[in-house]
Amino acid sequence: MSSVTERLRYIKEQLPGDVTLVAVSKLHPVEAIREAYEAGQRDFGESRAQELSQKAPAMPSDVRWHFIGHLQTNKVRQVVPHVTLIHSIDSLRLLHTINDESAKIGRITDVLLQVHVAQEETKFGFSPAELIDNFTNEWTPASTPAVRVRGVMGMASLTDDENRIESDFSEIARIHHHLATTIFAEDSSFDTISMGMSDDFHLAISAGSTMIRIGTDIFGPREY
Ligand SMILES: *Cc1c(COP(=O)(O)O)cnc(C)c1O
Repeated sequence: MSSVTERLRYIKEQLPGDVTLVAVSKLHPVEAIREAYEAGQRDFGESRAQELSQKAPAMPSDVRWHFIGHLQTNKVRQVVPHVTLIHSIDSLRLLHTINDESAKIGRITDVLLQVHVAQEETKFGFSPAELIDNFTNEWTPASTPAVRVRGVMGMASLTDDENRIESDFSEIARIHHHLATTIFAEDSSFDTISMGMSDDFHLAISAGSTMIRIGTDIFGPREY
């Protein structure tokens, strides 16, 4: 299996119909993205603001761009005009900045709340307790009318221990369920659980993922 087209087809065959595949194209050239596009792929993920703002104009306008990396507030303006979904909300300040920028250009931006459950210290995201506390006590939908919170995003620990990976994904799904039945109970669009990457997407889907983010298995290794 060598081509992007073949690898994409191979992954698609393994996915339940209700799981969205985001092809993570960060650090891969537009030619590779175009090959995936020709094969029917429309959802692509990028993790750097500048890279996204350069690639987006080079691709057809029906591409759905996902922003999956850590987003600094001073880069929000570069990202908002291009994105379908920002997966990586990790502070209320960022949410407000995205709201203000979206309002300014007359858009509603869909976002996910990034929750940190992995054992590594370095990953971004709210802790489960922080997430629930922040959104219970310091946020109302009316405070950010130009964003729509669609669900949660998370990553499992970097480990070979499948039990740990499974429990991380279950925890993310549990947090989604908790929020969906409390703070977001009135909001049927709070329906997305973004979890699962090349090495662990089967476990993520078993745990309830509705959206997986696959880079390496589609485009091959990235050159940093
Ligand atoms: C790079 C990246 C991915 C894709 O990882 P692969 O292991 O190449 O599939 C998924 N999610 C996030 C947040 C990423 O930064």
